[in-house]
Amino acid sequence: MAFIVKKNINGNEYYYLNENKRIDGKVKTKTIAYLGKIKKEAEKKAREIIKKMTNDKKEMNKKKKVEDNFGMRKLMNKNISINDMAIFCKRKGFVYPSAEIYGGFAGFFDYGPFGVELKNNLKKNWWDFHVRQREDIVGIDGSIMTNPEVWKASGHEESFSDLFVVCKKCKKVNKIDKSELGKVKCEFCGGDYDENKTKEFKLMFKTTVGEDNYTYLRPETAQLIFINFKFVQENARMKLPFGIAQVGKSFRNEIAPRDFLFRLREFEQMEIEYFVNPKEKCPYKIGNSKILVYSENMQNKKKEPEKMKFKDALKNGIIKTDWHAYWLEQEFLWFVNLGANSEKFRIRQHVSDEKSHYAVDTWDLEYKFPFGWKELQGMANRGDFDLKQHMKYSKKDLSIFDEKIKKKIVPHVVCEPSQGVERALLVFLFDAYTYNKKRDNIILNLHPKLAPIKAAIFPIVKRKGFEKISESIFNDLKKDWNVVYDKSGSIGRRYARNDEIGTPYCITVDDDSLKNETITIRDRNTAKQIRIKISQLKEIFKRLINNEIEFEKAGKLIVTRIK
Ligand SMILES: [Zn+2]
Repeated sequence: MAFIVKKNINGNEYYYLNENKRIDGKVKTKTIAYLGKIKKEAEKKAREIIKKMTNDKKEMNKKKKVEDNFGMRKLMNKNISINDMAIFCKRKGFVYPSAEIYGGFAGFFDYGPFGVELKNNLKKNWWDFHVRQREDIVGIDGSIMTNPEVWKASGHEESFSDLFVVCKKCKKVNKIDKSELGKVKCEFCGGDYDENKTKEFKLMFKTTVGEDNYTYLRPETAQLIFINFKFVQENARMKLPFGIAQVGKSFRNEIAPRDFLFRLREFEQMEIEYFVNPKEKCPYKIGNSKILVYSENMQNKKKEPEKMKFKDALKNGIIKTDWHAYWLEQEFLWFVNLGANSEKFRIRQHVSDEKSHYAVDTWDLEYKFPFGWKELQGMANRGDFDLKQHMKYSKKDLSIFDEKIKKKIVPHVVCEPSQGVERALLVFLFDAYTYNKKRDNIILNLHPKLAPIKAAIFPIVKRKGFEKISESIFNDLKKDWNVVYDKSGSIGRRYARNDEIGTPYCITVDDDSLKNETITIRDRNTAKQIRIKISQLKEIFKRLINNEIEFEKAGKLIVTRIK
């Protein structure tokens, strides 16, 4: 608050407007203005200055509020853009631009308290589905840096590059595939690329090892699987057909990282190399699920994708091998079983000039992002290219004995069901994101298995008796699940806070908890509440998380005012 002070200097009176301000914990007095020598005029001047200061402050607060609301208003829209998703993720503690306080670092991101839980849950569920639940797949965890010979053998050192291009018209920098040279225009403005500025751009990060040796940060996890192939097969006593899985970081020096978590320089892969005798048929059943199929033929003839069963796409010769049909369906089902929207997926066959140097037939599992249909998984048939290359460079025999045909063979990689963790994360976030008008808050409709926090436990009001029961429930549940105890703010605010980060259940302790040892559970998506005995909580909660029981049948449905 500002105040007037009078100073006597050599018998004359001078008036000043001063203000007390707290700086670094200490109160300091600062002079804001000189008000003259006459008391009345000084008082008038002071009033004017204070009025202006108050108005400025109001104006500033108003401006700040508008900016905040603008962000929120955009996020309330159901069809949010990739940039809105980035804002949401930052605001709610899922993902931050790496080194945000230094202005960020393009292509790199850090995960916040809810992001790390979501990401770990996603990887755990991937591993469960692909490794733990199957007898034909085992895992490894390879090193990020390895002998550079590996990248010579794989072909990466020689040819893993993009073309760096600059648009003549808008001057924007971009990358294109070598096969696209002369065929594509600038994707921002449609202009031509400047041929003089086009250059090859290596995608591997090179680094020094020891004093003067070099290697690369791995650009894919696959090669670590190939170089360990023989050990793994022997140690885990695997018989063809079998797969080796790995989850881990990979690095690519992208020319133009963009679209939030979509195109990154540091990312994480969940990868399987699946080895078969190429003459052997797929022994697994292909189910009845349907998906949009976009074959090479449809693309060449400019036809629309068609919805069909994986089974029929195989029967009609669109998908060339039974293994591809089987794995494409499995990967699709992995997403759908964890709550992704099946209508936003399609499979697209690579046209002849976009296939990789090793590929026989390649299909992408694609998802309809706000910025178009984009690849989630590239499923290539790599043949025996990789193992043969490593045999050539290492001079080691990597063939194995196939007991069915009583012969040594070099198996083929018929499929590599592999994907980026970050892209999968985006799929689940986009499909989960909803804005609820009635509740006036965002609901992140994540599958309970993916949700960062499985339950929030609160006393309905701050009271000793309620708090004691809440704490004991919290201490019990936290042994098995990531749960939080929350007693601050109104009950409505606590519900909203948990809706926004995807917490599927809120457990409330109220008067009845004291009277008859019951609590209420609120369902995130419907806001419906049930009442159950505290003694039954753990068992019922486990079944709810695993989707083994319908919410309304898990307890006694109750009527409540608070949604
Ligand atoms: Zn351009």
